Amino acid sequence: MLKKKQTKFIFVTGGVLSGIGKGIFAASVGNILKNRGFSVNIQKLDPYLNFDSGTLNPGEHGEVFVTDDGAETDLDLGHYERFIGANLTKKSSVMSGQIYSRVFEDERCGKYLGKTVQVIPHLTNKIQEVVLDAAKGFDIHIVEIGGTVGDFEGLHFIEAIRQMRRRVGSENVLYAHLVYLPYLEASKEIKTKPAQNSVRDLLRFGIHPDVIGARCDRNMNKEHIGKIALFSDVDEEAVVPLPYVKSVYEVPDNLEKVGLASYICKKLELKNVKLKKNGWEKFVQNVKDSKGTVKIGMVAKYLSHEDTYKSVNESLKFAFWANKKNVKIIWIDSEEIEKKGTEQLKDLAGIVIPGGFGNRGTEGKVMAAKYARENNIPYLGLCLGMQIAVIEFARNVLAWPSATSGEFDSNNKKQVIHIMPEQRQNMAEENYGATMRLGAYPCVLEKKSKSYKLYGKEQISERHRHRYEFNNDYREEFTEAGMLLAGLSPNHHLVEIVEIPEHKFYVASQFHPEFKSRPDHPHPLFLGFAEACLEK
Ligand code: GLN
Repeated sequence: MLKKKQTKFIFVTGGVLSGIGKGIFAASVGNILKNRGFSVNIQKLDPYLNFDSGTLNPGEHGEVFVTDDGAETDLDLGHYERFIGANLTKKSSVMSGQIYSRVFEDERCGKYLGKTVQVIPHLTNKIQEVVLDAAKGFDIHIVEIGGTVGDFEGLHFIEAIRQMRRRVGSENVLYAHLVYLPYLEASKEIKTKPAQNSVRDLLRFGIHPDVIGARCDRNMNKEHIGKIALFSDVDEEAVVPLPYVKSVYEVPDNLEKVGLASYICKKLELKNVKLKKNGWEKFVQNVKDSKGTVKIGMVAKYLSHEDTYKSVNESLKFAFWANKKNVKIIWIDSEEIEKKGTEQLKDLAGIVIPGGFGNRGTEGKVMAAKYARENNIPYLGLCLGMQIAVIEFARNVLAWPSATSGEFDSNNKKQVIHIMPEQRQNMAEENYGATMRLGAYPCVLEKKSKSYKLYGKEQISERHRHRYEFNNDYREEFTEAGMLLAGLSPNHHLVEIVEIPEHKFYVASQFHPEFKSRPDHPHPLFLGFAEACLEK
């Protein structure tokens, strides 16, 4: 039992290689603990010197995930939210750049009273403050340290979490370290040496792991577990095999099976009572029961990195799984459409145009939207995908061939998508960052819209990340020609959703519904889209 509200801390580090699933592991630990009724928060400490993820190229780093409070974060926060079913805040995503900048601020304000400012203790204290602040009020706070232990750029984090044990008491802290075990085909062996070295690295920094997560693409046996337990000096039950899984959503179940939750609860003196039936179990069952595959076309620009549209991919999967179907996402390069036409859109059950920035590839997207509209193929537009739908409608239904977005052609006279007049000032002053609409905004749904039917309520709140908006000068023409302004801001000033009621499913939102879709609660717009795609 918890005495008073003492937050328990779980620190997740990784070794040997990056990309072995630390984020999924941390999120899955959160999931199984949440299923014991604890309030759980998760935070990622990233070694990059960026201030946040807002300026990172999604083609290289994967999606920029946006929280309700408008933080532009690492895609890991998306996993966290999906696995623990919570809305996180900007406190959950911390980069080194932000920590350094806070220390510099304090230094400039004279807060260090003439002392020399050093990585230890000043930077490490600042890290601990940020961790303690995010943990406030939660039963359990999980902290994932980006990168691998021993990386030069992550040492301040490792030192800070080492000190945390003294600060909050060792009974309130658990260290979980993830390692990778390679397999040698020639000798048919799983090797533990790199893992040993990595644990040794951690020990050198004064951290003794309590739990070892062992990622291995082959089946580990008792002998491997015994060996890892021995060299890491942890209990055998604290060695958690993490085999390759087809879907990351199997991981919480696997952790349950090896009794990790009980081990953590014992170690942290928490009551281990699993909640009865939860939505997650039903979700996992649906995944298992899913039969047949539906092809959905995703028309986009960045196709080199699988994670660029991570939340969209996952939202599609959830919506189809809820219908006991698998989805196959067909990636379509919008520039290819420009060159070769819409031939490759044939045979798709539905078309999605996700978010994006800049002019490149947008003509191909307009062609795809036209194809979907004219052929009655379900269309889901997300942010840029809505702007594209509006431009396409203007050009081909309203017959305004030059219609475009101010983002693509700032001198064009027919900007059906533009910067709102009140925002123009900021653009001119080069206060560029401030011009982005970021985070959660309320929206009121039109009662006769499809969206209203799907959400089942009038007021919704959704997350945004864009600069450009529907141009209100043209509302009447669009409406008269058959486009429904299905969602508006409460003051009716901003268009948030457009629909074509005549069409089987043609719904596009200025916000990003994908950020709020959860495995056990697929987003209503994605569900509506999936159901339309499945309709014969
Ligand atoms: N580039 C568009 C804008 O800034 C759309 C942004 C997006 O899709 N996230 O408005």
